[in-house]
Amino acid sequence: MIREAMLWSPGEGGKVECRLCAHRCIISPGKQGICGVRENRDGGLRTLVYGEVVAAHVDPIEKKPLYHFFPGSKALSVATAGCNFRCGFCQNWQISQAPRRKGGGLTGEPFAPEDIVRAALDQGCRSISYTYTEPTIFFEYAFDTAKLAREAGLANNFVTNGYMTAEALESIRPYLDAANVDLKAFEDETYKKVCGARLEPVLETIRRMRALGVWVEVTTLVVPGLNDGEGELAAMARFQRARLILDLVRTTLEVKTMNPLLLIPGIGMMAIALGTVIYWKAHSKVALSFFLWGAAAWIVGVALKLIAAIPTSAIITGSRELLPRYLSEPVLWL
Ligand code: SF4
Repeated sequence: MIREAMLWSPGEGGKVECRLCAHRCIISPGKQGICGVRENRDGGLRTLVYGEVVAAHVDPIEKKPLYHFFPGSKALSVATAGCNFRCGFCQNWQISQAPRRKGGGLTGEPFAPEDIVRAALDQGCRSISYTYTEPTIFFEYAFDTAKLAREAGLANNFVTNGYMTAEALESIRPYLDAANVDLKAFEDETYKKVCGARLEPVLETIRRMRALGVWVEVTTLVVPGLNDGEGELAAMARFQRARLILDLVRTTLEVKTMNPLLLIPGIGMMAIALGTVIYWKAHSKVALSFFLWGAAAWIVGVALKLIAAIPTSAIITGSRELLPRYLSEPVLWL
């Protein structure tokens, strides 16, 4: 189905600029962008694959792969044809590269967003995965489906190469709960030669997703001789480690600065510690007051944190499933 595209600007001479992915194609009338699924028709950008489903399947969420996002649940996976990358090692090249293949075609089985959401509910899925090819290039379809899915109490996740613009990510963010970003390599040269893209926009998407509070897991398909150099893998690991440290600091600061009342459990713990020292040194009855007031402050403070600081996604999805993970975070207890 052909639909008006989102995120584009008119240019000179009937050309249009697509603002969906980091290629930012300038497309002449009658031509298509690099992905082959967005076309300039009469000076307007159209998506050619809206609702044209080429693959749909119920998968375990771990197969996406997402290991810490509703573990043990099922996800309804959907895809249309096309991709903004052309990786030589793609496992789904028959559908991802269909627009570039002779006779590849863009059409699939027509499914409205409502059909996908209904099927996910009927199959007992907890989420919908936009996957197999690149969800960025079927953005309009993913966007409409994700919005309906959210209303129906389902979560949404992208399995993506991360080559979307900041604008695209911010548009889908209200409905996007998680993403698995495929980090193909850690050298720009490999991205250029093998994928027809660049590394930095992918890293930027990973940083941006974390900053926006999307649950992110990163996958690298190790291809011997292509991206398995010791230095490259170490650089990749360092990038992830830096993200982890920053995330931990950010989460801690967010919770601490959200409301001074959230410091109460820490103060309670300090009072208990002080009471212990006083009792140990002086056997004074004053220690009992420190214990009692400290314990009361700690209980009240933890309760306040639970009310004020549960991650938004747990509330949005109306789910208790994220709660155990949150309860295990040390920042809650201090
Ligand atoms: S989605 Fe990316 S590759 Fe496709 S037309 Fe837009 S900018 Fe070009």
